[in-house]
Amino acid sequence: MQALQGKTALITGSTSGIGLGMAIELARQGATIVLNGFGDAAPAREAIAALGVAVHYHGADMSKPAEIADMLAFARQEAGGVDILVNNAGIQHVANVEEFPVEKWDAIIAINLSSAFHTTRLAVPLMRERNWGRIINLASVHGLVGSAQKSAYVAAKHGVIGLTKAVALELAKTGVTCNAICPGWVKTLLVEKQIEARAEAKGLSLADAQRDLLSEKQPSQEFVTPEQLGQLAVFLCSPAASQIRGAAWNVDGGWVAQ
Ligand code: NAD
Repeated sequence: MQALQGKTALITGSTSGIGLGMAIELARQGATIVLNGFGDAAPAREAIAALGVAVHYHGADMSKPAEIADMLAFARQEAGGVDILVNNAGIQHVANVEEFPVEKWDAIIAINLSSAFHTTRLAVPLMRERNWGRIINLASVHGLVGSAQKSAYVAAKHGVIGLTKAVALELAKTGVTCNAICPGWVKTLLVEKQIEARAEAKGLSLADAQRDLLSEKQPSQEFVTPEQLGQLAVFLCSPAASQIRGAAWNVDGGWVAQ
């Protein structure tokens, strides 16, 4: 029997990248999946359906609290609830603080931080009813340490870890846990844009820009993969992880050990 049969997992920002990796690994364990995110959802839907589980999609814009509420109602009515909530949707913008566009700051705080508050406040009553739940927040190494030119992202990700700890404590005597995963570099669209910008700024080929990006911060000089993060999420959903509460678990090739 698959470990997560009978559970429903809602993964925000799961049409690509890490969110899709999470959805695939949770589906491999038999969970019903609710996808969310922008762009064409069909390839993600097909990848999940091929694993033999039920798959739903809601296109809520994670910067809009009313749309988030609609998605949670949809999950409850159409997909059987929200037993596992993965707060993953996120965006990046890179600029010095004095040049940081105000609308980019607002969007990053809304999508990378406030959306996790909204999904969590709406999912917790459903999880409390069943006395079982897993909230997994995709923070980042940037929730633990800073990097120049990422003020909004670093502020939002530190905020996500703070939210994780407070929610974990509120739920400490229940069967609901809340933890954060803190990846280093993972090769997704979000990072490919940064490799392209680095190649342009330093006059490097894409391959050299990728090596430059990895060698600056990630001692293993290898990317973390969405599959590895998805498998950690599966572990956090297991009974073995029931006393892991309020953790911020880095998966970063050694980034924050330096
Ligand atoms: P990605 O760009 O591949 O995926 C982001 C997902 O979020 C997409 O599905 C996109 O459609 C969705 N999204 C963006 N804005 C949205 C909105 N307003 N409403 C709904 N969905 C929206 O990026 P990724 O690298 O897979 O990032 C996923 C998460 O992992 C983010 O929170 C990111 O900060 C975090 N993270 C990424 C890395 C990395 O190296 N890639 C490292 C650490 C943390």
